[in-house]
Amino acid sequence: MTQLSIPLDPSVEFLVGLLNTPSPTGYYHEAIRYVRQAFEALQIPNLTFSETTKGALIAHWRGESSGAPRGVTGHIDTLGLMVKDIKGSGRLKMTQLGNFMWQAVEFEGVTLRTHDDRRYRGTVLPSNPSTHVNKNIRTSPRDEDTMEVRIDAKTFSAADTRALGIEVGDFIFLDPRVEVTDTGFIRSRHLDDKSGVAVMYGALLALKQAGLQPAQDTTFLIANYEEVGHGGAAGFPDGLAEVLAIDMAALGDGQASTEYDVTICIKDGSGPYHFLMNNKLRRIAAENNIPYKTDIYTYYSSDGSAYWRAGGTARVGLIGPGVESSHAYERMHKDSITHSIHLLARYLLDGAEA
Ligand SMILES: [Zn+2]
Repeated sequence: MTQLSIPLDPSVEFLVGLLNTPSPTGYYHEAIRYVRQAFEALQIPNLTFSETTKGALIAHWRGESSGAPRGVTGHIDTLGLMVKDIKGSGRLKMTQLGNFMWQAVEFEGVTLRTHDDRRYRGTVLPSNPSTHVNKNIRTSPRDEDTMEVRIDAKTFSAADTRALGIEVGDFIFLDPRVEVTDTGFIRSRHLDDKSGVAVMYGALLALKQAGLQPAQDTTFLIANYEEVGHGGAAGFPDGLAEVLAIDMAALGDGQASTEYDVTICIKDGSGPYHFLMNNKLRRIAAENNIPYKTDIYTYYSSDGSAYWRAGGTARVGLIGPGVESSHAYERMHKDSITHSIHLLARYLLDGAEA
């Protein structure tokens, strides 16, 4: 069997840089540029780049065969916030980009970016948050009417805040708080799905270091609108035989996924993935002694689902590394990244059709 070494350290380094690059859904320029530069720096022969009008990055890698072309997708867009209204107090009401618990962002540091790129620091808070003042704050509901952003600037009115250049529609970036521990864990917001894009980076690097190319022509789509459901709906060429989405595995009570395996998602909220793809992925994992779990996510869908909903005809599968407390302050282990890179790399090299 072909020897492959899994480039974990460079993949984690790539991941940390991507995590520190803000990319809430709708704001993709910086992260797409970061990924493109990192992928281009791999200097892989026959890997060519383009961007869709909508802003996604496409990398096309010529394979040994063009008979059954493939697509692989991951997304750089993440959860985030946007200014919904400027309150009379000068503080900001927010609207969510993507879906999450307000409790997951309570007291998080943020950077607000005005349309002309002035940046202000601030904090997401419930209104009147001091327990010395508000005896009901412990149990009061958290929603878009009770949560606000306190900007670190002297503002006492909506006019003061507007004078800073802040307006309805400005992006608010949540601090990712990236930490890589010496026990192999990575804690950060937005491991969904920046870790999946790091898995793609690692698989490209593994093949490049081994002097290999994919078995089939392969188009990599780095999508920028997954969290709102249409990232994978456009960007792939027609006529693909298979599409493999790389997105996080969700952990929790009743779930098989772990932080230490790669997961093959058999079914999610959008329905089952393709039977033959699922079996192919199982076979590749077993042949290469890759620790994997199969799992089902009830409240989840992927850019594989978006591709199918948009009329895509390929056989679709979904794999990904395990991410704990998804859509909150997330955590994963490097083991899961290693096994996900390995499974994707072996998939790229596998000549058989699903
Ligand atoms: Zn995701």
